[in-house]
Amino acid sequence: MSSERIYLKAGARVFDAGDEPTAAFLIESGLIEISVDHGGVRTPLSLLSAGEMFGEMAVIGNELRGNSARALEPAVLVPIARNEFVERLRLADPVVRALLISQVSRYRSEIAALTGTRISHVGVHGDAGALDKIRLESELRGALYKNELEVLFQPIVDIASGAIAGYEALTRWQHPERGEVPPTEFIELAEETSLILQVGDYVLTRVCEAISQLSSAHAEPVPFVAMNVSSRQIADPGFVERVLLTLRQYDVASDRIKLEVTENLAFDHARLANLIKRCHAAGVHVALDDFGTGYSNLNLLASLHFDQIKIDQTFIRALDHERTAALVKTIATMAKDLDCDLIAEGVETPAQFHALRELGCRYAQGWLVGRPKPFGDVIAASGLETAR
Ligand code: C2E
Ligand code: MG
Ligand code: MG
Repeated sequence: MSSERIYLKAGARVFDAGDEPTAAFLIESGLIEISVDHGGVRTPLSLLSAGEMFGEMAVIGNELRGNSARALEPAVLVPIARNEFVERLRLADPVVRALLISQVSRYRSEIAALTGTRISHVGVHGDAGALDKIRLESELRGALYKNELEVLFQPIVDIASGAIAGYEALTRWQHPERGEVPPTEFIELAEETSLILQVGDYVLTRVCEAISQLSSAHAEPVPFVAMNVSSRQIADPGFVERVLLTLRQYDVASDRIKLEVTENLAFDHARLANLIKRCHAAGVHVALDDFGTGYSNLNLLASLHFDQIKIDQTFIRALDHERTAALVKTIATMAKDLDCDLIAEGVETPAQFHALRELGCRYAQGWLVGRPKPFGDVIAASGLETAR
């Protein structure tokens, strides 16, 4: 914000209707009257004092001033240049920007109606995407209540024995008009607001239900179920408690659930450390998802004790390259030395499966082993699936 000040005498004008909106103003002291002139009659609209802002409407709407401002007593103003404003607006969340512009538009229409003046409409130009997002978010909220979110389960096999060791819970949204919205899209959307906490609780419940049913349908050892956890859930102080409470509600062993966190959460080291500590105290395992992509940070592995590392599918896809195979081998050794189990994601071919066995990887997950499927199908196939 600019530091220059504007000193005004009583009666001085700041701007008039029709002026270019070059700045907005913050009042440091004094009284400012905002008014409109119509047919020579001045109608005061508001009286503003220290700490309040004015003149921002025309700046945001990018229109000529629709009203006038003048000091009723000596006043000191801090101007905020238009380009500073526009820059901040550009950086703002698109949804917030769209809301702001729509509020400005409504305010200006109300003023116009009040004074009988005509002003042009301030559209939410270029923000159709933001409005779409608002719509999608509201639909997602509805989908939660209507149980339109479906949690699928993808098998994870023990490479040495070929037996199913567990499943990963993967969420789908079957949208009535848009069809299947991929989790990468709606989870990201939910993460922008606290909606992810509700989505997460919904998934947690489905996962505990699944473990409970697996416990009665499956011979020992009961397969584990891994669920993905977003950064907002980790930041939520009640999260671990809710996991433990839900496990108790469904009367399932805490070592049958695993929480998967992605590497880009790593920046919040202290929170992650706390989550792992509390999970371990309760017997819940924590896996590092998508290892090797994005924010690969070996410090993280040195200081945090993950129970599992999930090596990202980009490495598996490139396993036939010598250098990638060498890397995966090194990661497998590292995982063993760190007392972590290694899971390979995105295993699609028998060649990849065999290469992973040679490289000492413990678990495999991918289309070769099985696609994500509804829990009913999991139970129906339980104990029958083996890797080839
Ligand atoms: P992720 O946790 O890394 O999950 C693995 C993704 O790889 C899943 O995509 C899965 O369907 C896909 N996949 C599995 N095997 C193969 C394969 O052999 N080939 C290929 N090409 N892909 C395979 P999906 O289900 O679309 O999920 C994408 C991401 O969305 C997940 O990545 C996870 O980060 C996130 N996600 C999904 N469900 C949830 C959820 O309930 N909560 C949260 N917070 N995130 C979720
Ligand atoms: Mg995952
Ligand atoms: Mg992954």
